[in-house]
Amino acid sequence: MKLFNTLTQSLQEFKPINDTVTIYVCGVTPYDTTHLGHAFTYVTFDTLIRYLEYKGYPVKYVQNVTDIDDDVIRKAGELGMAWDELGNREMERFLSEMDSLNWRRPDVYARATDEIERIIELARTLVARGLAYESEGCVFYSVRQDKDFGKMAQAVGLNDYQSMLAIANERGNFPDDKRKRDPLDFVLWQAQAPGEPAWESPWGPGRPGWHIECSSMSMHYLGEQIDIHGGGADLTFPHHTCEIAQSENYSGKAPFVNTWMHVGMVYQEGEKMSKSLGNLTLVRDMLKKYSADAIRILLQSHHYRYPWECFPEDLKIAADTAYLFTQVREMVGQTLDGEDRMLHNRFIAAMENDLNTPEAVLLLRHAAQEALETKNCRLGSEVLRLTGVLGLTA
Ligand SMILES: [Zn+2]
Repeated sequence: MKLFNTLTQSLQEFKPINDTVTIYVCGVTPYDTTHLGHAFTYVTFDTLIRYLEYKGYPVKYVQNVTDIDDDVIRKAGELGMAWDELGNREMERFLSEMDSLNWRRPDVYARATDEIERIIELARTLVARGLAYESEGCVFYSVRQDKDFGKMAQAVGLNDYQSMLAIANERGNFPDDKRKRDPLDFVLWQAQAPGEPAWESPWGPGRPGWHIECSSMSMHYLGEQIDIHGGGADLTFPHHTCEIAQSENYSGKAPFVNTWMHVGMVYQEGEKMSKSLGNLTLVRDMLKKYSADAIRILLQSHHYRYPWECFPEDLKIAADTAYLFTQVREMVGQTLDGEDRMLHNRFIAAMENDLNTPEAVLLLRHAAQEALETKNCRLGSEVLRLTGVLGLTA
């Protein structure tokens, strides 16, 4: 199977390090509702994992939940709720909405607040190696001390310090923080602000930064080097750039990740779908009108690496396709009899080519039409076997 590695900007033959494929996907910050952009990321990795399991690989899948951060604290304050109460509620909502989309839950779903001890150990080691420093109860990663810093940023075209800094500013890196030695330095441990939740540390009470939780969890649950690490395309910098720096300098091993996979953004009315812009298509609203199969088909009809815009017509086509598969199920019944090697091989070829689900869905749609027109139960059985690999439930 070939997968595109963002770090090398090339298609690479996928070869797992050990027998069990190790996959880490950056998870949500639980303070708001799940939208189609989230669903695109998590259904993409769900489809990949189902396919790898279908090929016979055991998979260990870890995802984090950033249950403490500025957004959680702010939103909880606005709602008059405790930060952990809001976090628990939104985390449960996310899991149940993804369950409704028939995802295979991660084997480990890890909370940042359960990771504190290991995060402190990681930060302490980086300080001891001169790559991080304490300042007024915070710990910052010192970008200038790390000659290799910026590997992922460079891969996506941020070639120098200034272009990294411009994006970091945009994405909330707090360049004006007087406690930092350099505007690009990022926080590993954040000193407690008045009224905020805090945990004890060698630098006083505080809470972990965001990037470090993923380094810590990925290395703890999956090992210092893993097969696949993924997330939305907006995580390449700073998040994944910082993860690589922290992890490789902690473990002394490179690469931290063999294949970096990034999922394109979903647009609505010409703008990136985002909480801050408020142009969201929420998964729970879509589920009132469309089946999980229709929503999965909509997502799988777009190649994961590219941005796309959600148009109503595309949802209609996806719903029609889902209906075709249920008609095939009615014709064939529950017992799948016979196989169609040609369809099977073409499906596999599409999936092996960097998870080309749009081609796979189109093949199955055409095969379903043909099976219904010619009352071909053997072809229909193959269609249903393969829609099962895509996580559809027709
Ligand atoms: Zn992450």
